[in-house]
Amino acid sequence: MAKTSPPTKAPWYRDGIRFECTGCGGCCRARNGYEYVYVDPTEARAIARRLGIPLRQFVDEYLIEQHEDAQMHLRFDDGACSMLKDGKCSVYEERPKQCRTWPFWPENMRKKVWDSEIAPSTPGVGRGRLWTKAEIEAMVAEDER
Ligand code: SF4
Repeated sequence: MAKTSPPTKAPWYRDGIRFECTGCGGCCRARNGYEYVYVDPTEARAIARRLGIPLRQFVDEYLIEQHEDAQMHLRFDDGACSMLKDGKCSVYEERPKQCRTWPFWPENMRKKVWDSEIAPSTPGVGRGRLWTKAEIEAMVAEDER
């Protein structure tokens, strides 16, 4: 008899989740002391271009190197990302992957975390278009890369 795999339980978001960015800037502010928006070299070049400044200047003025793993992250000022100007992202079209995949981060997709932390503090949850399970999982996978 052929061996069959045990059925895998569908995740709680199997019917998708409605979400749209409301531009509130909430996810651009420190959350429980976390103020790290990582930027890879390709993203850094794109943001510098968007700001109209040389890459070297962008690195010097806006990026901080995390010494443990040599990754670069955006400077935060008074608990807000330095790209947030007048409550809006000033580089929205070029925002880093970490921002593009919010709120579909691996650690957010646990039902308890979603219900207790993410949904109550993210005004765009429950609005806008329906993100399918496949799209959500693609975002989670992208964020993990
Ligand atoms: S880069 Fe833009 S979207 Fe990302 S945290 Fe900073 S201000 Fe917000």
